[in-house]
Amino acid sequence: MKVIDGKKIANKVKDEIAGKVQEMMKAGQPVPHLAAIIVGDDGAAKTYVDSICKACKEVGFFSSIYHYPAEIKEAEFLQNLDFLNNDDEIDGYIIQMPLPKHISMEKVVEHVNPKKDVDCFHPTNNGKLLLGGADFLPATPYGTVELMRRSGISPKGKHCVVLGRSNIVGKPLALLLAEKSDTGDATVTICHSRTQNLKEICATADILLVAIGQPEMITADYVKEGATVIDIGIHRIPDEKSEKGYRICGDVKYDEVAKKCEAITPVPGGVGPMTMTCLLLNTLHARELNRK
Ligand code: NDP
Repeated sequence: MKVIDGKKIANKVKDEIAGKVQEMMKAGQPVPHLAAIIVGDDGAAKTYVDSICKACKEVGFFSSIYHYPAEIKEAEFLQNLDFLNNDDEIDGYIIQMPLPKHISMEKVVEHVNPKKDVDCFHPTNNGKLLLGGADFLPATPYGTVELMRRSGISPKGKHCVVLGRSNIVGKPLALLLAEKSDTGDATVTICHSRTQNLKEICATADILLVAIGQPEMITADYVKEGATVIDIGIHRIPDEKSEKGYRICGDVKYDEVAKKCEAITPVPGGVGPMTMTCLLLNTLHARELNRK
């Protein structure tokens, strides 16, 4: 059984990105600049944004944080997006979700300049994703297929079962796997909370990709002997045995499932590190797209 080391692969990708940044600097070109927007005072959002800035620094990108109060009016927030959309020195930006309820998510997403939309939220970029040839891919599905490619796991001709159909993970991941490409060419089944005979369908998967947000729900009886299991879920659950009082786990019950697998991603250290790295890859691409 092979444990897919997402951290190691993510570090390798980061080294490659850092190498490209060095080349840009030597050529006197501007380095990529990623901005992050936070509205309100959510601690988890701040921690995530800080970790993005740290990752940017590691590879030599500029980063900046735009922090607005939770009471900011929708119109004013959209005006601030205009500023970012028109600032030639910012290549891409992310908006930390969720936004306060009085700000329309739909209006915000449609307001983002598609060429700076490194989180791939804009309808134009989602349309391009459907048609093939997208400028940006949503970071988690991108990280998942890239992790598989770099681990020598080809979905070509295989039956991939994707658990979860969210707009940011399950649906785009299924599209990428079905795409005519070297990270696709799979036969794809999408499952969700209304799927009947879920266990039986999962047990037919050559590659089972799980993004359901249900801690350790996928037990060994969901998995075919010799399958590959990619666990995208990430949770912090109480654990009295741990000094911290909690432990991190995925949607898959790792210990019992791993015994049946040909390959599996651990949590933490699997898909997670690749997500952030793919945000950096999107930012690098945005820099190439916006400032030739
Ligand atoms: P969502 O809650 O948006 O979507 C969950 C999906 O799973 C839905 O389609 C839902 O079905 C389906 N689902 C929920 N319960 C069941 C069930 N019992 N049986 C079958 N299907 C079920 O979650 P996300 O897509 O945003 O995230 C999924 C997981 O991935 C989470 O654990 C999240 O923390 C993790 N994640 C990890 C990232 C990383 O970097 N590693 C990044 C982003 C997310 P329905 O549509 O019918 O409601």
